[in-house]
Amino acid sequence: MDSMKDRKIIIDDTTLRDGEQTAGVVFSLEEKKRIARMLDQIGVQELECGIPAMGAEEQASVKALVDMGLAARLITWNRAVVADIQASIDAGVTAVDISLSVSDLHIAHKLRKSRDWVREQLKVSLGFAKEKGLYVSVGGEDSSRADLDFLSELMTIARGMGADRFRYCDTLGILDPFSMYENIRTLRQRVPDLDIEVHTHNDLGMATANAIAGLRAGATFVNTTVNGLGERAGNAALEEVVMALKHACGVDPGVDTHRFVELSRFVGQASCRPVPEWKAVVGEKVFSHESGLHADGVLKNPGNYEGFDPAEVGLARYLVLGKHSGSHGLLHRLRQLGIELDRLEANDLLERVRSISQRNKRPLTDQELLTLCRSPRKVA
Ligand SMILES: [Zn+2]
Repeated sequence: MDSMKDRKIIIDDTTLRDGEQTAGVVFSLEEKKRIARMLDQIGVQELECGIPAMGAEEQASVKALVDMGLAARLITWNRAVVADIQASIDAGVTAVDISLSVSDLHIAHKLRKSRDWVREQLKVSLGFAKEKGLYVSVGGEDSSRADLDFLSELMTIARGMGADRFRYCDTLGILDPFSMYENIRTLRQRVPDLDIEVHTHNDLGMATANAIAGLRAGATFVNTTVNGLGERAGNAALEEVVMALKHACGVDPGVDTHRFVELSRFVGQASCRPVPEWKAVVGEKVFSHESGLHADGVLKNPGNYEGFDPAEVGLARYLVLGKHSGSHGLLHRLRQLGIELDRLEANDLLERVRSISQRNKRPLTDQELLTLCRSPRKVA
């Protein structure tokens, strides 16, 4: 395995294409522009920003994004059809993803064609795109169920015709990280001089893991979406992939992570898909500590129970007082609220905090805590 540390990893975020393709999700042009601007500002290198062949409105919105003059490269999604690619050219982009179904299942039951037809479509569409001087990613839809020999053959044809990379799509999210790793490694070995991009879906909860596995096996491009928004169970989440690269793999993809929460909240709101409190990396409560042992550990040294500093993604640490709290956490919170108690008083208060939390099935608010402090327990 060539080390990830020696390779430049490029993030191609597809929030504006696959993200918007989520059933029921529509972004306004203003929202698209704001998302594109934020992604560009934090250093995401490439944005997949629409499907111009869908019609005049989509074409105009891609054009508006092109006119923003972002540093990120804009790429569009196209079927392997000349008219689609022409629509992308008309929208002003210079990079295209040309998508073809590559599994025998899709070829027989979706396209109702043959492998020969797929080879021919690739040659015609890629030939046209390269003749027009476009940067091209050849996208293999349903690659994860395709025959690796056929994929290698298509990649060899693509490379020979000047394609810039091959997008390996786990369209249905059915791979596990081990098979992803094996497949990408095999393709890297067979067609070493064509870059690979991995496009993963979260149907089995493994989109991020599969994206990382693909990168470890030699892919250099990875598709993400903010909050993991995308078809069905979604795509690999931008914030998870970047933080996993940094903290699990020791590779910095050059993205400023401090605005992840801001970006996540905005996309959550624009997509009408609010971010769950427990969402990995950006959920409101993922740095809340309640259990006595954990709160005590975090107060002694945050590194005891936090894998990374919450400020790195724009979150704050929060100690919750509830059923599992201990006295150290309680005293700390009270001190923040300007209240000093001795050990005995704190133990008494802790007992009441725990029983109220148990009864209400939630932690106590600061207001409730203050009220409790002002009303000492009556002697029975
Ligand atoms: Zn997809």
